[in-house]
Amino acid sequence: MIHPHAARPAPATAEVVVVGAGPNGLMLGCELALAGISVVVLERRERPEEEPKANGLLGQVVRLLDHRGLYERLAGRPGPPAPMAGHFVFGALPLNLGLLDHSPVDALAVPQARIVAVLTERAVELGVEIRRGHALEDLRQDDDAVDLVVDGPDGRYGLRARFVVGADGGRSATRKRAGIGFPGVTYDRTTVRTAHATVPTEYVDATTGMLNVPGLEPIAPFLGLRTERGGFSYAPFPDHPPLISTTEWDQPASDEPMSLSELEASVRRVLGADLPLTAPDGDEPRVLRRLSGGNTRIAERFRDRRVLLVGDAAHVYGSTGGGPGLNLGLADAVNLGWKLAATLRGTAPPGLLDSYERERRPAAERMALSAQAQAALLAPGADVTGLRELFGELLADRGAVQRIAELIAGTDARYDVGDDDTGGPVGRLAPEMTLRTAPTTVRLAELTVAARPVLVDLTDARALADAIPEWQDEVNVVRAQPDGDAASVTGLLLRPDGYVAWASTSSDPTPAERTALREAVQRWIGPR
Ligand SMILES: Cc1cc2nc3c(=O)[nH]c(=O)nc-3n(C[C@H](O)[C@H](O)[C@H](O)COP(=O)(O)OP(=O)(O)OC[C@H]3O[C@@H](n4cnc5c(N)ncnc54)[C@H](O)[C@@H]3O)c2cc1C
Repeated sequence: MIHPHAARPAPATAEVVVVGAGPNGLMLGCELALAGISVVVLERRERPEEEPKANGLLGQVVRLLDHRGLYERLAGRPGPPAPMAGHFVFGALPLNLGLLDHSPVDALAVPQARIVAVLTERAVELGVEIRRGHALEDLRQDDDAVDLVVDGPDGRYGLRARFVVGADGGRSATRKRAGIGFPGVTYDRTTVRTAHATVPTEYVDATTGMLNVPGLEPIAPFLGLRTERGGFSYAPFPDHPPLISTTEWDQPASDEPMSLSELEASVRRVLGADLPLTAPDGDEPRVLRRLSGGNTRIAERFRDRRVLLVGDAAHVYGSTGGGPGLNLGLADAVNLGWKLAATLRGTAPPGLLDSYERERRPAAERMALSAQAQAALLAPGADVTGLRELFGELLADRGAVQRIAELIAGTDARYDVGDDDTGGPVGRLAPEMTLRTAPTTVRLAELTVAARPVLVDLTDARALADAIPEWQDEVNVVRAQPDGDAASVTGLLLRPDGYVAWASTSSDPTPAERTALREAVQRWIGPR
């Protein structure tokens, strides 16, 4: 249940104010509350947005949610998430994930509105105060705190917070009021039309799910199709009428409300064939949308002293590039929450909060690269057709598929945790592992739901904790055996966000390795 705002007088101070109860603000609220920080989330809307947006999550973020116990709530089944292993798509070119030994592309087909509902429920469980109908109007910061002017249902009021995080979307008032620029690229040539619509039953192959438009080759669901005139996609998500979408370039501007006949005409131009569309039954919110142009932008900086940015407030991506914003924003929130909490408690090692931008900006830049490359591959014209043919040849190569799959999944952005990249787990999200801890087994992801540091000890002596006695109250030590074959690691130090800060493969780690473990704890949890 959402706590509406004005039942009690608004307190004048808060440890953290998060502006925006979209998915990323709610996720950050949960992360801060897990770390024991009191959070107020301001949301200008009275009710959650109903406009359908993302249809699901893709890549590493799915495993991050699993590390917080949220995968099961969203998927309706326990983890681990199952990676996609079949055909996928990049810029409407087929990407055969079946070529890979281990696909990094996890997927969770859950609409954004449901993600927001689950995160709201979780935030309320954890004691986050969500004030709906309260909009940030202005902010000013000094050395100790940030003063906010908030417009609430009972009028304007002031709020003072130690830190403020803007999770208020692409037009972020927080970012603007903090004077942070938003450089990037605006595309004004594209028009994307999208609708939930029913297609004639006889056009859909009941066995394969392919769309058979008379006069054309069968069209695979979800994979997208590019012609010389534009892009088309047919996405029959479960429990919904299919989502039909076209992308065209250099269309005349229109003030008319979007209609199904406009989409039918667009499909005819793009495919060169007719696809009859009918409005679906039922009164739930349906997509019927025309989006002209788009932006790919990354904030000049993610932090200005006591003001930070997450999600769309920090970065946005053009709609032709696959809309990866939510995948990235939830990972921002998980990266920032524990760092901000440690800073507020005064236990953070020097520079911890600045590592948020150091780690997340490269991830945002990789996503911008992906979005722009996909937009370029979709564009009309014979030159692009040539580029696509060559790119398609490269995608027959397993190494190229691995690289693109990691780009889409966000697994190529390794964090620099102070260790050289030796191809091991350090700097990456904890590997999927099952551990034997008498009398039962546990998945590694289940050990991180409380968002605390974890030391996994699979060594012969199970005495790794002896190397870090000063931190015994802060680091959860799990002594276990790998379930099944010998594990490729014998020791792992996980940060609260589930990322590996130290690892060993020795059954009896050397004194140098133990010193490295101490240094990793000092670096991420702080000297004691
Ligand atoms: C059509 C469409 C399809 C998409 N598909 C995908 C997809 O498939 N995959 C994907 O990963 N992403 C997708 N995205 C992007 C994704 O929806 C966004 O990245 C995501 O919504 C960003 O979440 P957020 O919490 O950062 O911001 P938002 O969802 O924009 O939430 C910001 C919140 O802040 C509130 N707010 C704004 N200003 C103020 C203020 N001054 N005071 C208080 N509150 C304020 C707003 O009311 C809003 O609730 C899609 C987007 C669109 C539009």
